Amino acid sequence: MKILVINAGSSSLKYQLFDMESGDVLVKGLCERIGSGGEITHKRPNSEPYKTEAEFPTHEEALAMVLDLLVSKEYGFIESIDEIDAVGHRIAHGGEKYKQSTPIDDEVIAYLETIVPINPLHGPPAIKGMKACKRLMGNVPQVGVFDTSFYSNMEDFRTIYPIPYELYEQYKIRRYGFHGTSHRYVSAKAAEIVGKPIEELKIVTCHLGNGSSITAVDKGIAIDTSMGFTPQEGVPMGTRSGSIDPTVIPYIMKATNMNADEIEDLLNRKSGLLGVSGISNDNRNVAKAANEGNYRAGLAIKMLINSIKKIVGSYVAELNGIDVLVFTAGIGENDKNLRQKVCADMDFFGIKIDEELNNKGEINISAKDAKVQTLVIPTDEEYMIALDTAKFCKE
Ligand code: AMP
Repeated sequence: MKILVINAGSSSLKYQLFDMESGDVLVKGLCERIGSGGEITHKRPNSEPYKTEAEFPTHEEALAMVLDLLVSKEYGFIESIDEIDAVGHRIAHGGEKYKQSTPIDDEVIAYLETIVPINPLHGPPAIKGMKACKRLMGNVPQVGVFDTSFYSNMEDFRTIYPIPYELYEQYKIRRYGFHGTSHRYVSAKAAEIVGKPIEELKIVTCHLGNGSSITAVDKGIAIDTSMGFTPQEGVPMGTRSGSIDPTVIPYIMKATNMNADEIEDLLNRKSGLLGVSGISNDNRNVAKAANEGNYRAGLAIKMLINSIKKIVGSYVAELNGIDVLVFTAGIGENDKNLRQKVCADMDFFGIKIDEELNNKGEINISAKDAKVQTLVIPTDEEYMIALDTAKFCKE
């Protein structure tokens, strides 16, 4: 069985073709600058990437080129588009309706269109991707895999904000959570690694990348997560502030005459590691400057570490314990210093890592006498999407 996974962004379209029998990625690539020119990078394993300029006025032209490449003699892997059994779409927001991955039909697309106001950045490109697939691939089954659906069992007292309840009723302002596909993947993998059924485990998963979120998983069910109404809430990120006192926002607006769009831009694109350090949104650059003694870079890194510790600690309280702590994504998988500092002085919770294992980049970095298993697990959202999509093909 072959599954094509598509992740459509505002001006980009990522794709991976999986062989589900072996779990291998047959080809993957990225279309960029959709709507303002175009460029495609297409890669098969063990060969140099094919990169070329193209003209993509819309996502549909980009997808058409991807499909052409997939069947091309030189760069492809299949003889005909009919060999693709299904398409899995990464969809950031499923609103309150989609509590699990769902086959896409007109009704699903119509619902996703109604929730564009609460998903203005990711909703429109995802819808364009689904519509383009339908036009270009006819009746090939399509499945939507929603980042929010892992959080659909979160209880109301964890999702409703303490603001007038009518705002939830009227505008659906509540916490939804994001990165769910990644947290779902690594929590399942963590159970596999420690060799216990997930139903017996209390897991805290830290997805730390350019965007970061932390999730508490009880018996396989996400009970709380750090991102909320948007991916802005929680820990400080590359360019996003994470949680701040909400009154700071009107105060800045009044003091600087910023309008709503400008303050949103400030909190989304000019804050976090970039805003505090003044150097970069990239953790590697900020960590390097911090090591060289740059005060603001050091401050940004300390803030990030402290924020992760606070959220992990609060989830241990909510879970009434912790069996497994997981680090994943760009920072979580690669930054051993950050992992070491997050886990330092957490022995009260039973969290203790082995410095040598951590430095060597092992999967299980727990100290021998630690009660909690601390794991570093590379995330694979695309494979999770392919697995979900394949389930619908078999049924
Ligand atoms: P992601 O969004 O998951 O791709 O993660 C991107 C983040 O991971 C960036 O802030 C990178 O600086 C960070 N990152 C990637 N590799 C490393 C590394 N070797 N050491 C520290 N941070 C890293």
